[in-house]
Amino acid sequence: MITRRSALATGLLVAMPAVLRAQSGPVAIVGAGAAGLAAAEILRQAGHPFTILEARDRIGGRAHTDRSLGADTPFDAGAQYIHWAERNPWSAIAREAQATSTDQDGWARTLFIDGRPATDAERARRRAGFAGLDAVLAPKGADASLAAEARAAGDDAVAATSGLSRLSLGEDPDRVSAADYERLWSGTDLWVDGYGDLVARRYAHMPVRLSCAVSAIDWSGRGVRLHMPGGTLEAVAAIVTVPVGVLKAGAISFAPRLPDATLSALDGLSMGAYTKIALRLDPPKVDARAVGDAVSVAHDGPTIYFEMGPFGHPVAVANLGGDLARDLCNAGDRAAIALATERLSAILGAQAGGAVRGGRLVGWWTDPHARGSYSIAAPGHAGARDALRAPVGERIVFAGEALAGGGAMTVGGATLDGERAAREVLKRLPG
Ligand SMILES: Cc1cc2nc3c(=O)[nH]c(=O)nc-3n(C[C@H](O)[C@H](O)[C@H](O)COP(=O)(O)OP(=O)(O)OC[C@H]3O[C@@H](n4cnc5c(N)ncnc54)[C@H](O)[C@@H]3O)c2cc1C
Repeated sequence: MITRRSALATGLLVAMPAVLRAQSGPVAIVGAGAAGLAAAEILRQAGHPFTILEARDRIGGRAHTDRSLGADTPFDAGAQYIHWAERNPWSAIAREAQATSTDQDGWARTLFIDGRPATDAERARRRAGFAGLDAVLAPKGADASLAAEARAAGDDAVAATSGLSRLSLGEDPDRVSAADYERLWSGTDLWVDGYGDLVARRYAHMPVRLSCAVSAIDWSGRGVRLHMPGGTLEAVAAIVTVPVGVLKAGAISFAPRLPDATLSALDGLSMGAYTKIALRLDPPKVDARAVGDAVSVAHDGPTIYFEMGPFGHPVAVANLGGDLARDLCNAGDRAAIALATERLSAILGAQAGGAVRGGRLVGWWTDPHARGSYSIAAPGHAGARDALRAPVGERIVFAGEALAGGGAMTVGGATLDGERAAREVLKRLPG
């Protein structure tokens, strides 16, 4: 069901745009994730010159298929599902590319609590907590937090909401606007074997200046001037697609400073800490597919969702979120891999000995080019995503998953929003 309320955004789109003051030159695109690349594709099709500047040594941003555990052990370090597949532009792209995908049934086969299998009563209680959660979390007027909405429905709903919030949004439920959550699009989730690879393949033709972190954007003149190591770029306009965590950290300075309305929109947004720890398994010792996905709950630590042997790859991927995930990112690889191995071993039981052959923590929270997993609108700030869409000085347009309304937090949303930003710029170019 579509719950997106985009009256403000629509209003912005139909307003008569001012023409850009600088008359010629490329459009600068900051960031080569899904949003930046989609914006570039629109400009390319319109025949307008552009330059993409990317801080990393690769494209794709938070959509990245990681092979650091071995060529036979790929896993998606960031995005892996094509959410709301019925309307997501990536469904058709995946089909055309013949990417392997599967429907996600969303249920783990086993539940472990404090290192032992859950009892039937514990399972039933957990199921009861999740039942009807959508209705429980529907905002009742004020822009309250998910935690506040859940409290009215009792302890089981509170526990289920914490799990849902940390494991799907990457954030603790007291920091999430229920109104923003309600607005998110839903539908079929397609699990892609290599979503990051798919994004990289789709845009392999794009010219991108890699390892080129923009440090400042000067918009005091007619156009924009972007500063980066070793030089500057003059452009008619800039489409800035870096994550809101990067903007809020001040990694890019703006002169003149950004308008109050933009800064206040940024104040209402933050980054969650959805985190993955991939463990390479030794196939002769453990058949991860036979074990099936599992949830590990601990009273003195994070709840961890284990994906076991996705698409037949010899890997178990631990997923967690919220402050306990932040603590683990800060603690570093060794501590994170040790915790994931310990929890996995409890699930595998007798098969565990020597089954884990290495691990990798993907700590987006401590990644300087992401500063978190994806955007969260704070309670009381459900309008922040729309507000950030207002162009600055008619020549800086922010874009990306954080501005994608009902498509926020996704590759599909970032793609649609990158396209929106490019059209915003194109209609301001002198005819
Ligand atoms: C663990 C995790 C799981 C996820 N799971 C899913 C999922 O299953 N399905 C889904 O659809 N989405 C998922 N997402 C979200 C999805 O990955 C993002 O919403 C999407 O990729 C964001 O695209 P973007 O272009 O807005 O931002 P990004 O992909 O972050 O692109 C921004 C780019 O800007 C670059 N940059 C940063 N600073 C600078 C600078 N100073 N100068 C130049 N470049 C800079 C970055 O390196 C990056 O490449 C997940 C994300 C994470 C982290």
